Amino acid sequence: MKKICYIVAMQAEAQPFIEKYGIKEKEGFFSPLPCKLYKGSINGCTLYVVLNGQQHGSDLVGCEAAAIATLSAIQKLSPDIIINSGTCGAFQAHGADIAEVYIGNGAMFHDRRVPGDDAWGTQSIGNYAVWEGSLRMAESLYMKTGKVTTGSSLDMQPCDLDMIQTHGGQLKDMEGAAVGFVCSLFDIPIVYVKSVTDLCDSGAETFEEFSRNLSKACEALRAANEKVIEYLTNIQ
Ligand code: SAH
Repeated sequence: MKKICYIVAMQAEAQPFIEKYGIKEKEGFFSPLPCKLYKGSINGCTLYVVLNGQQHGSDLVGCEAAAIATLSAIQKLSPDIIINSGTCGAFQAHGADIAEVYIGNGAMFHDRRVPGDDAWGTQSIGNYAVWEGSLRMAESLYMKTGKVTTGSSLDMQPCDLDMIQTHGGQLKDMEGAAVGFVCSLFDIPIVYVKSVTDLCDSGAETFEEFSRNLSKACEALRAANEKVIEYLTNIQ
């Protein structure tokens, strides 16, 4: 893998590994889009980190910004692989814990309720495949694997939970499937690296739990991403 491209929603999620690798921002690269590019090189490979950017003074989380960032990154950078890295919710019932890092084994949308025949249902849920080496990589890095489920809200409504359970989802985020959707159009392999900030079945208020654990989860994300980058840059 010669060109590795991260898509990350929040600056706080990317900052620990931007600092670790000392990669530099290429200002205005995606102008007029708000996405931000950081570029560096490591083990003879090019490392790109693309952030969704900001609007109204806060990081652009969510599917629309993630899709735009991914589309622009693919068209302008031609990466060999995309890595969507960030934080997520997970479930105590599945043995998840705060700041545990998972490698995604698939991605779907959990808040799209589209009536119609199977074709509509299949398309709206998505069910995007991950890079074929994802499970092997997770095994050799001693990381857990789980299905990423994506929606447009931080909270979880009963109908979201129902969808997540019906489809065997384990991780809940706001970008993963949108990034997977764009990658599927270009046939670009995708890897998910997700660190748990909150437990959806803990009974705690999600935003409070998310905020309390954000920096710990982002540190764990940096450590995991170092291993992932090391692993991927060693693949021819
Ligand atoms: N207002 C918050 C915004 C964070 S939104 C802030 O001040 O920081 C949550 C971000 O973390 C999204 O990018 C999403 O992908 C991820 N995330 C973490 N836990 C989540 C959960 N339980 N459900 C959905 N997304 C979650």
